[in-house]
Amino acid sequence: MKAAVVRGTQKLEIEDIPTPELGPKQVLVKIKYSALCGSDVHRFQYGMANEGSVLGHEYIGEVVQIGRDVTYLKESDRVVGGGGTQPEDAVLPKYPNDRYSARTVGIESTRIGGFAEYVAMDEWRPLLIPEGVSDELAVLAEPASIAVHAVRTSKFKIGDTAVVLGAGPIGLLTMQVLKAGGAARVIVSEPAPARAESARVLGADVVLNPLKEDVVERVLELSGGPGVPVAFDAAAAKPTFQQGLQMVRRGGQLLVVSMAWEDVDLRTVDWIGREVEMKAAYGSQPIDWQTGLNLMSRRQLSSESMVTDESFIGWDQMQSSMERLMKPEEHVQIVLVP
Ligand SMILES: [Zn+2]
Repeated sequence: MKAAVVRGTQKLEIEDIPTPELGPKQVLVKIKYSALCGSDVHRFQYGMANEGSVLGHEYIGEVVQIGRDVTYLKESDRVVGGGGTQPEDAVLPKYPNDRYSARTVGIESTRIGGFAEYVAMDEWRPLLIPEGVSDELAVLAEPASIAVHAVRTSKFKIGDTAVVLGAGPIGLLTMQVLKAGGAARVIVSEPAPARAESARVLGADVVLNPLKEDVVERVLELSGGPGVPVAFDAAAAKPTFQQGLQMVRRGGQLLVVSMAWEDVDLRTVDWIGREVEMKAAYGSQPIDWQTGLNLMSRRQLSSESMVTDESFIGWDQMQSSMERLMKPEEHVQIVLVP
C-alpha cells in the first residue's frame, strides 16, 4: 500500500509499504480521509517522528476485513480512527514515566498511522460514525474530541461568556462546543483573515483581530469590566498565553489546549494579583469522542468552511502541504485522500 513515510526532519517520502497483517481481534480499515493535524506538522517540523513511521491520526474509513475473533465490527462499517473504550485486558504500550511529554519523550514510536491507504486497528479502538453524519464532518471527530475534552475539563459553565484565542481547527471546534454547551457569548481572537471568517461563519459572536486591536482591552470592555470567567488558548502563539491570563476575571481560568513548541512571553505582574488559574488539557477520553459525535449528529458541530473542496489533497501534495502548514495558515483544514 501507499504511505507517506517519515524520512528525516521535514521530509516525507511516498513509498510502497506492506499492507498491515491483521491480528485475530483486529480490523483493517481502508482510509477515506486523513486530516493533517497541527501536531503532525510539529513532529514533522521539529524532527520528533521516528524514521520509518507514518504520521496521521485524524482519519475515517471503512472496515474492509476483520480478524477471526472480531465480534462487534463488520465489513463496510464506517468508522472514525479512535474513541473506543479500552478493554481491561488490552495490552498497550505504557508511557515511560510520569513525566511523559511529547517534547521530552516523543509521541508513539514506529507506528503506521493514517497517512496510508490502510490501517490495522484493535477492534475496540474505532467508533462507528452515526448515520446522517457526513464523511466531511466525521473527519473532524478527533479534533472535536480534543475540543470537548478542553471544555469539559475547564471551569466553563452554561451561561458564561468565553474567549477562544486562535481559530485553527481546535479553536473553531472549541468555539462550537462552547456554543452547544450554552455559552452566553463566545469571543474569538484570530489574525488570519480566512480563519477569522470561518469563526464568523460557524457562529462566533465577536471576532477580534489581535493585529489591529488590543484584544485584552476589547474583552474587558465586552465583559463590562472584570474580564471573562474562562479563556481557551488554542493558538500556541507567542502572545496568546499572556493575553489569556490577562483577560480572565479574578479567579478565572485560562485553559491551554494548544502546545507551544517555542518560548512564549509571560509577565506575571499583569495577572497574578487576580489569582487566576492556568490549566492544561491534553488528548481526550472515550466520552469526549462520543460527545463530539453526538454533537455532530445533532448538527451542533459543523465543518462548514473548515473542510471545503480546497481541503482535499493527493499524495503528491503531502510534502508541500506539511511545509505550508508550518507557516501561518490560510487553509483551515487539509485532508489527504489516499
Ligand atoms: Zn490531532
